Amino acid sequence: MAKIQMKTPLVEMDGDEMTRVIWQMIKDILLTPYIDLNTEYYDLGLVHRNETDDQVTIDSANATKKYGVAVKCATITPNAARMPEYNLKEMWKSPNGTIRAMLDGTVFRSPILVKGITPYIPTWTAPITIARHAYGDVYKNTEMRVEKGSKAELCVTKADGSEERALIHDFKSDGIIQGLHNLDESIGSFARACFNYALDLKQDLWFSTKDTISKKYDHRFKDIFAEIYENEYKEKFEAQGIEYFYTLIDDAVARVIRSNGGYIWACKNYDGDVMSDMIATAFGSLAMMTSVLVSPDGIYEYEAAHGTVQRHYYKHLKGEETSTNSVATLFAWTGALRKRGELDNTPDLVDFANKLEKATIKTIEDGVMTGDLYLISKLENKTKVNTEDFLHAVNERLAEML
Ligand code: NAP
Ligand code: MG
Repeated sequence: MAKIQMKTPLVEMDGDEMTRVIWQMIKDILLTPYIDLNTEYYDLGLVHRNETDDQVTIDSANATKKYGVAVKCATITPNAARMPEYNLKEMWKSPNGTIRAMLDGTVFRSPILVKGITPYIPTWTAPITIARHAYGDVYKNTEMRVEKGSKAELCVTKADGSEERALIHDFKSDGIIQGLHNLDESIGSFARACFNYALDLKQDLWFSTKDTISKKYDHRFKDIFAEIYENEYKEKFEAQGIEYFYTLIDDAVARVIRSNGGYIWACKNYDGDVMSDMIATAFGSLAMMTSVLVSPDGIYEYEAAHGTVQRHYYKHLKGEETSTNSVATLFAWTGALRKRGELDNTPDLVDFANKLEKATIKTIEDGVMTGDLYLISKLENKTKVNTEDFLHAVNERLAEML
């Protein structure tokens, strides 16, 4: 069989530790035997980030802007313990943070559902995708402790030097205050990324804030979404038979629990942080979550939602057997290859990505799985396999499908 050809390079961002080991195995066992893999390779492993003073991260984000699709391996975000371990010149910033800022993107996370692993909410039969606004609010706050007898005010100095003031509180006892902000432009980018992704997935979009209490701040989010929807997306949504639906965050939570899934839920930064952990846990495992960063101008970066699985890597280094779940990393590859195929109009590549995902799910539903899933799967006949054997088991099923 002739290998599948790729018209445009895919930006490949390699990473660290156990996921770096898995990255190479996926390419060797499941990709290069079938595809003439055309990637522009960037090594975002911490060793190379340190060698290049993190320039490689910036270069990889620029390449993503140029070509439109990237696939990223999990990477170490250095902390104090990593400084001596990797002999670092600096405590380099999180690559995800750098890339997200450069692409001005929104992150969408969805669970991968398999038979045998029942969500804690058993009526969730279709995935719930969380879209989290990744700018501002409490993540860029200014806080103070306030002594009793103080008066706290909001004060804005305008471009012409004039001031606008509002009382926060007259403190009769000790307390605390916090200042938050967001930007119309960032909220607009977030809205467009969500509307585009809903059209892509052909799923309804829900958006929720607390606008009844936060009558200016949260209300601004609601208004910007509504305005962009009316002017730019309403007709496209109606043509696809999907819906945009705004509701209060409390009402959204109640509806989510009662739902069957199958929609995208857009959340403000803090709500998205909290709710994505809730959704991931309720669906079973972080190792069964896909994650994609989508920019408002339609650039896509696919990755796994979990980290570099450090504990497993140290076992691997000692020569011990590991049983690490590669599904989220594998789905980062299939997501990126499918998107590349759609943009380049190469149906072979799209078909390959779809079959590789089916083969992966079939493997787990046949009872062959890694240790993390083995612990939670309710299948009667199940076998725990090691990291590499899982990929071989997927390949057996893939070869049959092709
Ligand atoms: P982690 O790598 O996600 O692992 C946490 C634990 O979750 C693991 O020890 C393992 O539990 C389980 N786990 C996660 N992924 C798994 C998989 N694929 N298969 C089986 N089990 C899995 O998070 P971490 O240990 O907090 O962080 C390690 C490094 O990853 C850090 O340096 C951090 O900076 C980085 N990180 C990167 C990203 C990213 O690039 N997107 C995201 C988060 C963290 P058991 O040990 O109990 O088996
Ligand atoms: Mg969180």
